[in-house]
Amino acid sequence: MDRSADPSVQKYVYVFGRGHADGSAGKKSLLGGKGANLAEMTNLGVPVPPGFTITTDVCRQHLMSHAMPEGVEEAVSEALERLEGFTGKRFGDDEDPLLVSVRSGAAVSMPGMMDTILNLGLTEKSVAGLARVSGDERFAWDSYRRFLQMYGDVVLGVDHRLFEWRLTKHREESGVHEDSELTPAHLKELVAEYRGVIEDHGSGLFPDDPREQLWGAIHAVFESWRTPRAIAYRKAYGIPHDLGTAVNVQAMVYGNRGPSSGTGVAFTRNPATGERQLYGEFLINAQGEDVVSGTRDPLSIDGMGEHLPGAAEQLIETAARLERHYRDMQDLEFTVEGGRLYLLQTRTGKRTARAAVRIAVEMADEGVIDRNEAVLRVAPERLEEVLHPTVDPSAEFTPLAVGNPASPGAAIGRLVLTAREAIEAKAAGEPCILVREETSPDDFEAMVAAEAIVTCRGGRSSHAAVVARGMGKCCVVGTRALRIDEAAGLIRANERTVKRGDWLTVDGASGEIIPGRVPTIQPEPDEHFERLMSWADEVRRLAVRANADTPGDASTARRHGAEGIGLCRTEHMFAGEERIDTVREMILASTAEERQRALDRLLPMQRDDFIGIFRAMDGLPVTIRLLDPPLHEFLPDDEAEIVRLAGATGRSPDDIRAEVDRMHEANPMLGNRGCRLAFERPDLTRMQTRAILEAALAVQADGGDPRPEIMIPLVGHVAELENQRALAIETARHVFDERNDRIDFAIGTMIELPRACLTAGEIAGRAEFFSFGTNDLTQTTLGISRDDSGSFLPAYLDAGIYAEDPFQRIDREGVGRLMRIAVDEGRAARPGLKIGICGEHGGDPESVRLCEELGLDYVSCSPFRVPVARLAAAHAVLAPAERPAATRIRA
Ligand code: PEP
Ligand code: MG
Repeated sequence: MDRSADPSVQKYVYVFGRGHADGSAGKKSLLGGKGANLAEMTNLGVPVPPGFTITTDVCRQHLMSHAMPEGVEEAVSEALERLEGFTGKRFGDDEDPLLVSVRSGAAVSMPGMMDTILNLGLTEKSVAGLARVSGDERFAWDSYRRFLQMYGDVVLGVDHRLFEWRLTKHREESGVHEDSELTPAHLKELVAEYRGVIEDHGSGLFPDDPREQLWGAIHAVFESWRTPRAIAYRKAYGIPHDLGTAVNVQAMVYGNRGPSSGTGVAFTRNPATGERQLYGEFLINAQGEDVVSGTRDPLSIDGMGEHLPGAAEQLIETAARLERHYRDMQDLEFTVEGGRLYLLQTRTGKRTARAAVRIAVEMADEGVIDRNEAVLRVAPERLEEVLHPTVDPSAEFTPLAVGNPASPGAAIGRLVLTAREAIEAKAAGEPCILVREETSPDDFEAMVAAEAIVTCRGGRSSHAAVVARGMGKCCVVGTRALRIDEAAGLIRANERTVKRGDWLTVDGASGEIIPGRVPTIQPEPDEHFERLMSWADEVRRLAVRANADTPGDASTARRHGAEGIGLCRTEHMFAGEERIDTVREMILASTAEERQRALDRLLPMQRDDFIGIFRAMDGLPVTIRLLDPPLHEFLPDDEAEIVRLAGATGRSPDDIRAEVDRMHEANPMLGNRGCRLAFERPDLTRMQTRAILEAALAVQADGGDPRPEIMIPLVGHVAELENQRALAIETARHVFDERNDRIDFAIGTMIELPRACLTAGEIAGRAEFFSFGTNDLTQTTLGISRDDSGSFLPAYLDAGIYAEDPFQRIDREGVGRLMRIAVDEGRAARPGLKIGICGEHGGDPESVRLCEELGLDYVSCSPFRVPVARLAAAHAVLAPAERPAATRIRA
């Protein structure tokens, strides 16, 4: 029965071959990325080995019931028959067998995370037939031993190292370097050994029936969706767990059929830099997994023309065609069999953030996409990577070894040699560098944990390189001079050693591995980055400010495009021994005169800070928040410091201890802080207001254009704001009278308590601006302490009770709803009320999207996130639909 003929019957299998495919690129969720693109390429006339795709629907049903849905076996049999028709070979034939590859392929690419089996269909009998028809005994037995190895590993759960040890032993015994140099006799012995390994260690026997092999492989691919490494990968990338994978069954083509055959991977543009050039590597006389596994060192694609001239030319032409068709950089897998090129995969290529920016900008210049699309092509979160540090070029050092630079950045950490050490180091808060012979997908969690990854073997498309680039993590591969001695706990190269736990610096740009800690510098954004940002700036509506407390931070923020300061936390200015002691004197003062003396000493310090900030932000608004934290945060909490302070201030340690005890609060975040404290100590508000306005007048007198905004924290009731506002205005009058000069300034408030949101109409009557303090607003709305959430929040996130950390991404339904009320009621009471956000969420792209929806005027975030917020604000205009939240369904 042709299931496709009856629309009421679910179609489980999509066939492609002879220039026609049932599927297309639009069917990614059903056919997975690989299957959909194989179909698309077939329809485009690109040479693709014929095959069929079993849908992700089947996988989902299989994962739920552990059985194939009814009708799948029949559909697969029909598809196999069509495949036999396309190839003129029969599956299970002993003389000239149709052999297939079985590969996973989810809708979202998860490189290296799931399984592949090649040469499926070979048996003890048909291997001889294959040797005869191919006239190449070595090829037939090499294909068979590869099949046994992959089937044993993927389907029967045999540790792959058990095979690799034997392969290495045979290579060593016969004195050859490459697998392709092993003789048929060696390969036959190896096959016998592999069968023995499977018998001893496998979960079942190796089946000699090709159909049984096929079903075993299909089941295994579906099951690979829920291996721990696949689950970890999905978690890291926020990929829903309920997508499932498709299975692609495809007629084999052979890259291991002699010197006019080969296999490789290529990117249509350089994935590290974005440069427009075919970039990749290939191996002569090898099968696909040899390139990706990093077990052999591949050749650069630039030299392919020398070895495989016709195929190289065709590859260049096909790559250009696919890039034009898909309108994006493609990552291709290809095989050349007897000089003929076949494409095995095309997909949108993963790239570094720097490359993403360059490719988007150059594709817009080439007219392939428009500028808005270019802006949307770069995920805002990734922009921070463009601003990655590099090793200071003026630093002097002798590297221990130099490998291939595979992913940029510079990283410093302590040497670890195993995945477990990396994970433990991360848990202990220690930065670490993971150095391995080569990585495997099982190392994924450790790679997430490490600051950088270094391998001794493998090329720039090896597992380590691909995964690190995807994560934007510094990575160096193929560091051949490096020897790892795990037992001794050290690495060695050029007669030098570095011990486990010692510091190591890695330069992902030059490939240098350097003992010790080398200074790093922040990079200057390049021309492509600047252009993309200018396109983003043209379309965004939200202004972007920075949270900055020092003139240095303010300058950095301005360099990154900040349009003002949304939050200057004045308490941060009280750090440093001299200042903190003065603050403490002010707190501990027993008389008004004593307190005033301390305040008089603090005034010029604050004034100078503000002068620096106003200068750095000349012509732009600077929102300065009056003192917010509870005072006891400034008091010493250990005995040595109490004694030191006693000495410095001429008080007795007992006095200080008594004062610290008196100020102790059970719940300080909900205690005497913000405007409550300022109500109790109006002289603080007076001193800070005076410092702000005197600084502004001084800068103005110098010809500058300071734009001060005074912000009152923790207001929950309009009367609190009224009280502080009156103090500030009275102080301003004094300052202006004394100086006989004046300056415009605004007085506004943080909106960081639910009551402030719910009474925003009243508060707006006394505020010229609102700034959402979403850190405190989240704390008080959810009733979750900012400081104590660590004890249960990770478990909540793991269990999916919260889909996101509410302190990183605004809780739309709760906090977001309160914000909506505050915006609506605030603006109803005071049309045109300026509203921003200065909580940590101001730099989170998804929260920026919410701010756009709410109609805020600006977001404010840390200086290095300013470009992220600028791009996110543009995305919010160009693609306003909410992205799906991470799924709550757990595999
Ligand atoms: C906030 O609460 O969101 C805020 C910006 O203030 P802080 O983090 O200093 O409490
Ligand atoms: Mg706050």
